[in-house]
Amino acid sequence: MAPHRKRAKTLAEVEKWAYDLEHKIRSELNFAIDGGVVKVDSLRLQEELGVVGGREPRWAIARKFAPDIAETRLLDIQVNVGRTGAINPFAVLEPVEIGGVIVKLATLHNEDLIVAKDLRVGDWVQVKRAGEVIPQIIAPIPEKRTGAEKPWRMPKKCPVCGTPLTREEDEAAIYCPNIICPGRQLEGLVHFTSRGAMDIRGLSYARIEQLVQEGLVKDPGDLYSLTHEQLLELEGYADKGTDALITAIQASKSQPLNRLLNALGIRHVGAIAAQLLAQHFGTLDALMAASADDILNVRGIGATIANGVVAYFSDPGGQKLIDKLRRAGLDFKEPRAVAAGGALSGKTIVITGTLPTLSRTKATSMIEAAGGRVTGSVSKSTDFLVAGEEAGSKLEKAKSLGVAIIDEAELLRRINRPATSST
Ligand SMILES: [Zn+2]
Repeated sequence: MAPHRKRAKTLAEVEKWAYDLEHKIRSELNFAIDGGVVKVDSLRLQEELGVVGGREPRWAIARKFAPDIAETRLLDIQVNVGRTGAINPFAVLEPVEIGGVIVKLATLHNEDLIVAKDLRVGDWVQVKRAGEVIPQIIAPIPEKRTGAEKPWRMPKKCPVCGTPLTREEDEAAIYCPNIICPGRQLEGLVHFTSRGAMDIRGLSYARIEQLVQEGLVKDPGDLYSLTHEQLLELEGYADKGTDALITAIQASKSQPLNRLLNALGIRHVGAIAAQLLAQHFGTLDALMAASADDILNVRGIGATIANGVVAYFSDPGGQKLIDKLRRAGLDFKEPRAVAAGGALSGKTIVITGTLPTLSRTKATSMIEAAGGRVTGSVSKSTDFLVAGEEAGSKLEKAKSLGVAIIDEAELLRRINRPATSST
Protein backbone atom coordinates (compact mmCIF):
# COMPACT_ATOMS: atom_id res chain seq x y z
CA MET A 1 0.00 0.00 0.00
CA ALA A 2 2.88 2.35 0.66
CA PRO A 3 2.97 4.00 -2.79
CA HIS A 4 -0.69 4.98 -2.48
CA ARG A 5 -0.45 6.36 1.06
CA LYS A 6 -1.41 9.99 1.34
CA ARG A 7 -1.44 12.59 4.07
CA ALA A 8 -4.73 14.48 4.16
CA LYS A 9 -5.18 17.79 5.91
CA THR A 10 -8.97 17.98 5.60
CA LEU A 11 -11.89 15.56 5.49
CA ALA A 12 -12.45 16.56 1.86
CA GLU A 13 -8.96 15.32 1.06
CA VAL A 14 -9.74 12.03 2.78
CA GLU A 15 -12.87 11.68 0.64
CA LYS A 16 -10.89 12.44 -2.51
CA TRP A 17 -8.27 9.81 -1.62
CA ALA A 18 -10.95 7.22 -0.82
CA TYR A 19 -12.67 7.93 -4.13
CA ASP A 20 -9.43 7.62 -6.12
CA LEU A 21 -8.50 4.45 -4.29
CA GLU A 22 -11.79 2.83 -5.21
CA HIS A 23 -12.19 4.09 -8.76
CA LYS A 24 -8.67 4.58 -10.08
CA ILE A 25 -5.89 3.01 -8.03
CA ARG A 26 -7.70 -0.25 -7.32
CA SER A 27 -7.95 -1.35 -10.95
CA GLU A 28 -4.25 -0.68 -11.48
CA LEU A 29 -3.10 -2.89 -8.63
CA ASN A 30 -2.02 -6.44 -9.33
CA PHE A 31 -3.43 -7.63 -6.04
CA ALA A 32 -6.95 -7.50 -4.69
CA ILE A 33 -8.08 -4.96 -2.09
CA ASP A 34 -11.50 -4.38 -0.58
CA GLY A 35 -10.90 -0.94 0.86
CA GLY A 36 -8.40 1.31 2.61
CA VAL A 37 -7.62 2.48 6.11
CA VAL A 38 -7.79 6.08 7.34
CA LYS A 39 -5.58 6.84 10.34
CA VAL A 40 -5.06 9.87 12.53
CA ASP A 41 -1.50 10.91 11.81
CA SER A 42 -0.55 12.61 15.08
CA LEU A 43 0.96 10.25 17.67
CA ARG A 44 -0.23 12.55 20.45
CA LEU A 45 -3.84 12.35 19.21
CA GLN A 46 -3.50 8.57 18.79
CA GLU A 47 -2.57 8.36 22.49
CA GLU A 48 -5.49 10.53 23.44
CA LEU A 49 -8.05 8.58 21.34
CA GLY A 50 -6.87 5.27 22.70
CA VAL A 51 -7.76 1.69 21.90
CA VAL A 52 -11.05 -0.13 22.51
CA GLY A 53 -10.74 -3.49 24.25
CA GLY A 54 -7.00 -3.51 23.76
CA ARG A 55 -7.14 -4.15 19.98
CA GLU A 56 -9.41 -1.72 18.09
CA PRO A 57 -7.79 1.70 17.86
CA ARG A 58 -10.16 4.67 17.72
CA TRP A 59 -7.66 6.52 15.52
CA ALA A 60 -7.96 4.12 12.58
CA ILE A 61 -11.04 3.32 10.50
CA ALA A 62 -11.52 1.01 7.54
CA ARG A 63 -13.09 2.40 4.37
CA LYS A 64 -14.77 -0.50 2.59
CA PHE A 65 -15.61 -0.21 -1.11
CA ALA A 66 -19.15 -0.20 -2.40
CA PRO A 67 -20.24 -3.79 -3.03
CA ASP A 68 -20.17 -3.83 -6.85
CA ILE A 69 -17.42 -6.36 -6.52
CA ALA A 70 -17.79 -9.97 -5.55
CA GLU A 71 -15.63 -13.00 -5.10
CA THR A 72 -16.44 -16.19 -6.93
CA ARG A 73 -14.76 -19.07 -8.70
CA LEU A 74 -13.48 -19.08 -12.24
CA LEU A 75 -14.92 -22.37 -13.50
CA ASP A 76 -13.62 -22.23 -17.04
CA ILE A 77 -12.17 -20.03 -19.74
CA GLN A 78 -13.83 -20.43 -23.12
CA VAL A 79 -13.54 -18.60 -26.43
CA ASN A 80 -16.00 -17.36 -29.01
CA VAL A 81 -15.47 -16.11 -32.55
CA GLY A 82 -16.32 -12.49 -33.37
CA ARG A 83 -17.50 -11.20 -36.73
CA THR A 84 -14.00 -10.38 -37.98
CA GLY A 85 -12.75 -13.76 -36.77
CA ALA A 86 -11.23 -12.40 -33.57
CA ILE A 87 -11.11 -15.09 -30.90
CA ASN A 88 -12.43 -13.64 -27.66
CA PRO A 89 -11.77 -15.47 -24.41
CA PHE A 90 -14.40 -15.13 -21.70
CA ALA A 91 -14.72 -16.37 -18.14
CA VAL A 92 -17.35 -18.84 -17.00
CA LEU A 93 -18.01 -18.05 -13.34
CA GLU A 94 -19.76 -19.77 -10.51
CA PRO A 95 -22.94 -17.62 -10.51
CA VAL A 96 -22.63 -14.76 -8.05
CA GLU A 97 -24.83 -11.80 -7.20
CA ILE A 98 -23.30 -8.38 -7.75
CA GLY A 99 -25.44 -5.34 -7.08
CA GLY A 100 -28.66 -7.33 -7.46
CA VAL A 101 -27.70 -9.08 -10.71
CA ILE A 102 -26.58 -12.68 -11.08
CA VAL A 103 -23.27 -12.73 -12.93
CA LYS A 104 -22.21 -15.91 -14.73
CA LEU A 105 -19.83 -14.64 -17.40
CA ALA A 106 -17.08 -12.02 -17.56
CA THR A 107 -15.02 -10.64 -20.40
CA LEU A 108 -11.31 -11.44 -20.57
CA HIS A 109 -10.40 -9.42 -23.71
CA ASN A 110 -7.36 -11.37 -24.86
CA GLU A 111 -4.71 -13.90 -23.97
CA ASP A 112 -2.15 -11.30 -22.85
CA LEU A 113 -4.52 -10.03 -20.19
CA ILE A 114 -5.11 -13.54 -18.86
CA VAL A 115 -1.36 -14.14 -18.66
CA ALA A 116 -0.71 -10.71 -17.11
CA LYS A 117 -3.26 -11.34 -14.37
CA ASP A 118 -2.06 -14.94 -13.96
CA LEU A 119 -5.63 -16.21 -14.05
CA ARG A 120 -5.95 -19.95 -13.64
CA VAL A 121 -8.99 -22.12 -14.16
CA GLY A 122 -10.32 -22.96 -10.69
CA ASP A 123 -9.10 -19.69 -9.14
CA TRP A 124 -11.11 -17.61 -6.74
CA VAL A 125 -11.41 -14.23 -8.43
CA GLN A 126 -12.66 -10.73 -7.75
CA VAL A 127 -15.34 -9.80 -10.26
CA LYS A 128 -16.44 -6.26 -10.92
CA ARG A 129 -19.66 -5.12 -12.50
CA ALA A 130 -20.19 -1.45 -13.31
CA GLY A 131 -23.42 -0.28 -14.91
CA GLU A 132 -24.30 -1.99 -18.17
CA VAL A 133 -20.71 -2.92 -18.93
CA ILE A 134 -19.92 -6.63 -19.24
CA PRO A 135 -18.52 -7.79 -15.89
CA GLN A 136 -14.74 -7.95 -15.61
CA ILE A 137 -12.33 -9.99 -13.55
CA ILE A 138 -10.13 -7.70 -11.49
CA ALA A 139 -7.65 -10.23 -10.19
CA PRO A 140 -7.32 -13.74 -8.83
CA ILE A 141 -7.01 -14.31 -5.10
CA PRO A 142 -3.82 -16.39 -4.94
CA GLU A 143 -4.12 -17.01 -1.17
CA LYS A 144 -7.14 -19.20 -1.87
CA ARG A 145 -5.30 -21.48 -4.28
CA THR A 146 -5.20 -25.18 -3.50
CA GLY A 147 -2.76 -26.22 -6.20
CA ALA A 148 -5.51 -27.73 -8.35
CA GLU A 149 -5.82 -24.54 -10.44
CA LYS A 150 -4.73 -24.87 -14.05
CA PRO A 151 -3.03 -22.24 -16.20
CA TRP A 152 -4.91 -21.53 -19.41
CA ARG A 153 -3.58 -21.56 -22.97
CA MET A 154 -5.22 -20.12 -26.05
CA PRO A 155 -6.31 -22.98 -28.32
CA LYS A 156 -4.21 -23.45 -31.46
CA LYS A 157 -7.23 -24.11 -33.64
CA CYS A 158 -10.57 -22.37 -34.11
CA PRO A 159 -13.06 -24.03 -31.73
CA VAL A 160 -15.76 -23.80 -34.41
CA CYS A 161 -14.12 -24.69 -37.74
CA GLY A 162 -10.74 -26.15 -36.72
CA THR A 163 -8.64 -23.75 -38.82
CA PRO A 164 -5.26 -22.98 -37.17
CA LEU A 165 -5.51 -19.58 -35.46
CA THR A 166 -3.22 -16.70 -36.40
CA ARG A 167 -1.84 -13.74 -34.52
CA GLU A 168 -0.77 -10.59 -36.30
CA GLU A 169 2.37 -8.77 -35.31
CA ASP A 170 1.85 -5.98 -32.78
CA GLU A 171 -1.65 -7.15 -32.05
CA ALA A 172 -2.99 -8.76 -28.93
CA ALA A 173 -5.91 -10.40 -30.72
CA ILE A 174 -5.86 -13.91 -32.16
CA TYR A 175 -7.90 -14.62 -35.27
CA CYS A 176 -9.57 -17.46 -37.07
CA PRO A 177 -8.47 -16.60 -40.62
CA ASN A 178 -11.30 -18.59 -42.22
CA ILE A 179 -13.58 -15.95 -43.75
CA ILE A 180 -16.47 -18.41 -44.00
CA CYS A 181 -16.01 -19.79 -40.46
CA PRO A 182 -19.50 -20.66 -39.15
CA GLY A 183 -18.51 -19.05 -35.83
CA ARG A 184 -18.48 -15.70 -37.60
CA GLN A 185 -21.86 -16.24 -39.28
CA LEU A 186 -24.32 -14.77 -36.86
CA GLU A 187 -22.37 -11.69 -35.76
CA GLY A 188 -21.21 -11.23 -39.34
CA LEU A 189 -24.79 -11.26 -40.65
CA VAL A 190 -25.93 -8.90 -37.92
CA HIS A 191 -23.18 -6.50 -38.92
CA PHE A 192 -23.84 -6.93 -42.66
CA THR A 193 -27.49 -5.93 -42.30
CA SER A 194 -26.92 -3.19 -39.71
CA ARG A 195 -27.79 0.47 -40.18
CA GLY A 196 -24.23 1.60 -40.85
CA ALA A 197 -23.69 -1.20 -43.37
CA MET A 198 -26.31 -2.52 -45.83
CA ASP A 199 -29.13 -1.11 -43.71
CA ILE A 200 -31.69 -3.86 -44.24
CA ARG A 201 -34.66 -2.87 -42.10
CA GLY A 202 -36.81 -5.52 -40.49
CA LEU A 203 -34.03 -8.03 -39.91
CA SER A 204 -33.72 -8.06 -36.14
CA TYR A 205 -31.08 -10.05 -34.29
CA ALA A 206 -33.72 -12.65 -33.41
CA ARG A 207 -34.80 -13.03 -37.03
CA ILE A 208 -31.23 -13.45 -38.26
CA GLU A 209 -30.66 -16.04 -35.55
CA GLN A 210 -33.80 -17.85 -36.70
CA LEU A 211 -32.71 -17.82 -40.36
CA VAL A 212 -29.32 -19.26 -39.40
CA GLN A 213 -30.85 -21.91 -37.15
CA GLU A 214 -33.32 -22.96 -39.85
CA GLY A 215 -30.37 -23.39 -42.20
CA LEU A 216 -31.76 -20.86 -44.69
CA VAL A 217 -28.88 -18.40 -44.38
CA LYS A 218 -25.20 -19.23 -43.95
CA ASP A 219 -23.64 -16.08 -45.34
CA PRO A 220 -24.84 -12.65 -46.55
CA GLY A 221 -25.16 -13.99 -50.10
CA ASP A 222 -27.97 -16.31 -48.97
CA LEU A 223 -30.12 -13.37 -47.87
CA TYR A 224 -30.69 -12.39 -51.49
CA SER A 225 -32.16 -15.73 -52.50
CA LEU A 226 -34.68 -15.89 -49.65
CA THR A 227 -38.20 -16.32 -50.98
CA HIS A 228 -41.58 -15.22 -49.75
CA GLU A 229 -42.64 -18.87 -49.38
CA GLN A 230 -39.57 -19.81 -47.32
CA LEU A 231 -40.16 -16.97 -44.87
CA LEU A 232 -43.89 -17.65 -44.51
CA GLU A 233 -43.11 -21.16 -43.32
CA LEU A 234 -41.16 -19.72 -40.38
CA GLU A 235 -42.68 -18.79 -37.08
CA GLY A 236 -43.51 -15.13 -36.66
CA TYR A 237 -43.85 -14.15 -40.32
CA ALA A 238 -47.08 -12.78 -41.77
CA ASP A 239 -47.81 -11.94 -45.39
CA LYS A 240 -47.35 -8.19 -45.15
CA GLY A 241 -44.17 -8.12 -43.08
CA THR A 242 -42.62 -10.78 -45.30
CA ASP A 243 -43.19 -8.64 -48.40
CA ALA A 244 -41.62 -5.65 -46.71
CA LEU A 245 -38.58 -7.66 -45.66
CA ILE A 246 -37.99 -9.16 -49.11
CA THR A 247 -38.31 -5.67 -50.60
CA ALA A 248 -35.80 -4.28 -48.08
CA ILE A 249 -33.32 -7.07 -48.83
CA GLN A 250 -33.62 -6.57 -52.59
CA ALA A 251 -33.36 -2.78 -52.25
CA SER A 252 -30.02 -3.15 -50.44
CA LYS A 253 -28.47 -4.45 -53.67
CA SER A 254 -28.07 -0.89 -54.86
CA GLN A 255 -26.30 0.32 -51.72
CA PRO A 256 -23.08 2.14 -52.60
CA LEU A 257 -19.78 0.29 -52.53
CA ASN A 258 -18.63 1.96 -49.30
CA ARG A 259 -21.51 0.37 -47.39
CA LEU A 260 -20.78 -3.05 -48.87
CA LEU A 261 -17.08 -2.78 -47.97
CA ASN A 262 -18.01 -1.93 -44.40
CA ALA A 263 -20.64 -4.69 -44.36
CA LEU A 264 -18.24 -7.45 -45.45
CA GLY A 265 -16.39 -7.24 -42.14
CA ILE A 266 -12.94 -7.10 -43.73
CA ARG A 267 -10.45 -7.00 -40.90
CA HIS A 268 -9.49 -3.41 -39.95
CA VAL A 269 -11.93 -1.90 -42.48
CA GLY A 270 -14.56 0.19 -40.71
CA ALA A 271 -16.95 2.78 -42.11
CA ILE A 272 -14.28 5.44 -42.67
CA ALA A 273 -11.72 3.21 -44.39
CA ALA A 274 -14.56 1.74 -46.48
CA GLN A 275 -15.49 5.20 -47.67
CA LEU A 276 -11.91 6.14 -48.55
CA LEU A 277 -11.44 2.91 -50.49
CA ALA A 278 -14.78 3.16 -52.29
CA GLN A 279 -14.18 6.76 -53.33
CA HIS A 280 -10.70 6.00 -54.55
CA PHE A 281 -11.34 2.80 -56.48
CA GLY A 282 -14.90 3.43 -57.58
CA THR A 283 -15.76 -0.22 -58.19
CA LEU A 284 -15.29 -3.43 -56.28
CA ASP A 285 -13.45 -4.96 -59.24
CA ALA A 286 -10.88 -2.15 -59.25
CA LEU A 287 -10.30 -2.65 -55.53
CA MET A 288 -10.03 -6.42 -55.90
CA ALA A 289 -7.46 -6.00 -58.67
CA ALA A 290 -5.39 -3.58 -56.57
CA SER A 291 -2.11 -4.56 -54.92
CA ALA A 292 -1.28 -3.63 -51.33
CA ASP A 293 0.89 -0.83 -52.77
CA ASP A 294 -2.01 0.51 -54.83
CA ILE A 295 -4.18 0.56 -51.72
CA LEU A 296 -1.46 2.29 -49.71
CA ASN A 297 -1.70 5.16 -52.20
CA VAL A 298 -5.12 6.03 -50.82
CA ARG A 299 -4.86 8.89 -48.39
CA GLY A 300 -5.71 7.79 -44.87
CA ILE A 301 -5.11 4.09 -45.54
CA GLY A 302 -2.17 2.42 -43.80
CA ALA A 303 -0.43 -0.91 -44.21
CA THR A 304 -2.65 -2.75 -41.71
CA ILE A 305 -5.79 -1.93 -43.67
CA ALA A 306 -4.12 -2.52 -47.05
CA ASN A 307 -2.95 -5.97 -45.99
CA GLY A 308 -6.37 -6.76 -44.53
CA VAL A 309 -8.05 -5.90 -47.84
CA VAL A 310 -5.61 -7.90 -49.96
CA ALA A 311 -5.88 -10.88 -47.60
CA TYR A 312 -9.67 -10.79 -47.77
CA PHE A 313 -9.94 -10.72 -51.55
CA SER A 314 -7.21 -13.30 -52.10
CA ASP A 315 -8.91 -15.72 -49.72
CA PRO A 316 -11.01 -18.41 -51.46
CA GLY A 317 -13.78 -17.86 -48.90
CA GLY A 318 -13.84 -14.13 -49.57
CA GLN A 319 -13.88 -14.70 -53.34
CA LYS A 320 -16.69 -17.21 -53.03
CA LEU A 321 -18.83 -14.74 -51.12
CA ILE A 322 -18.12 -11.95 -53.61
CA ASP A 323 -19.09 -14.26 -56.49
CA LYS A 324 -22.33 -15.10 -54.74
CA LEU A 325 -23.12 -11.43 -54.16
CA ARG A 326 -22.27 -10.68 -57.79
CA ARG A 327 -24.67 -13.37 -59.00
CA ALA A 328 -27.32 -11.93 -56.69
CA GLY A 329 -26.95 -8.67 -58.60
CA LEU A 330 -25.34 -6.34 -56.09
CA ASP A 331 -24.19 -3.03 -57.47
CA PHE A 332 -20.51 -2.98 -56.39
CA LYS A 333 -20.17 0.68 -57.43
CA GLU A 334 -19.59 3.95 -55.63
CA PRO A 335 -21.60 6.78 -57.12
CA ARG A 336 -19.38 9.74 -57.90
CA ALA A 337 -20.84 13.13 -57.14
CA VAL A 338 -18.33 14.96 -59.32
CA ALA A 339 -17.72 12.30 -61.92
CA ALA A 340 -20.47 13.18 -64.37
CA GLY A 341 -19.30 16.70 -65.06
CA GLY A 342 -15.64 16.25 -64.13
CA ALA A 343 -12.98 16.97 -66.73
CA LEU A 344 -11.25 13.65 -65.98
CA SER A 345 -14.44 11.68 -65.47
CA GLY A 346 -13.82 7.94 -65.77
CA LYS A 347 -10.07 8.34 -66.38
CA THR A 348 -7.56 6.12 -64.62
CA ILE A 349 -4.33 8.00 -63.99
CA VAL A 350 -0.93 7.11 -62.55
CA ILE A 351 1.52 9.68 -61.17
CA THR A 352 5.26 9.06 -61.08
CA GLY A 353 8.36 11.07 -60.22
CA THR A 354 8.49 14.53 -58.64
CA LEU A 355 6.15 17.09 -60.19
CA PRO A 356 7.42 20.69 -60.54
CA THR A 357 4.82 22.43 -58.34
CA LEU A 358 2.24 19.93 -57.10
CA SER A 359 2.78 17.52 -54.25
CA ARG A 360 1.62 13.95 -54.91
CA THR A 361 -1.25 14.44 -52.47
CA LYS A 362 -2.35 17.69 -54.06
CA ALA A 363 -2.22 16.25 -57.58
CA THR A 364 -4.23 13.22 -56.46
CA SER A 365 -6.93 15.29 -54.81
CA MET A 366 -7.20 17.56 -57.88
CA ILE A 367 -7.55 14.56 -60.18
CA GLU A 368 -10.15 13.01 -57.91
CA ALA A 369 -12.07 16.27 -57.68
CA ALA A 370 -12.18 16.29 -61.49
CA GLY A 371 -13.68 12.79 -61.47
CA GLY A 372 -10.48 10.86 -62.21
CA ARG A 373 -9.02 7.96 -60.33
CA VAL A 374 -5.39 7.64 -59.27
CA THR A 375 -3.89 4.17 -59.07
CA GLY A 376 -0.44 3.03 -58.05
CA SER A 377 0.67 0.94 -60.99
CA VAL A 378 0.57 1.25 -64.76
CA SER A 379 -1.53 -1.26 -66.66
CA LYS A 380 -3.34 -1.48 -69.98
CA SER A 381 -6.35 0.18 -68.38
CA THR A 382 -4.32 3.27 -67.40
CA ASP A 383 -5.50 6.27 -69.43
CA PHE A 384 -2.38 8.33 -68.91
CA LEU A 385 0.74 8.64 -66.81
CA VAL A 386 1.70 11.98 -65.27
CA ALA A 387 5.50 11.93 -65.18
CA GLY A 388 7.75 14.31 -63.25
CA GLU A 389 11.48 14.40 -62.47
CA GLU A 390 13.23 11.11 -61.80
CA ALA A 391 10.40 8.98 -63.10
CA GLY A 392 11.49 5.35 -63.02
CA SER A 393 10.01 1.97 -63.84
CA LYS A 394 6.45 3.26 -64.20
CA LEU A 395 7.57 5.50 -67.06
CA GLU A 396 9.26 2.55 -68.77
CA LYS A 397 6.17 0.42 -68.33
CA ALA A 398 3.87 3.13 -69.71
CA LYS A 399 6.12 3.42 -72.78
CA SER A 400 6.12 -0.32 -73.33
CA LEU A 401 2.32 -0.50 -73.03
CA GLY A 402 1.77 2.55 -75.20
CA VAL A 403 0.07 4.47 -72.38
CA ALA A 404 -0.05 8.25 -72.97
CA ILE A 405 2.53 10.19 -70.94
CA ILE A 406 1.95 13.80 -69.92
CA ASP A 407 3.64 16.33 -67.65
CA GLU A 408 2.21 18.47 -64.88
CA ALA A 409 1.42 21.41 -67.15
CA GLU A 410 -0.62 19.16 -69.42
CA LEU A 411 -2.40 17.62 -66.42
CA LEU A 412 -3.38 21.07 -65.18
CA ARG A 413 -4.52 22.05 -68.66
CA ARG A 414 -6.73 18.95 -68.76
CA ILE A 415 -8.14 19.70 -65.35
CA ASN A 416 -8.66 23.19 -66.78
CA ARG A 417 -6.89 24.99 -64.05
CA PRO A 418 -3.72 27.05 -64.44
CA ALA A 419 -0.68 26.18 -62.36
CA THR A 420 0.04 28.64 -59.57
CA SER A 421 3.03 28.77 -57.31
CA SER A 422 0.79 28.66 -54.26
CA THR A 423 -0.39 25.10 -54.83
ZN1 LIG B 1 -13.12 -20.65 -37.43
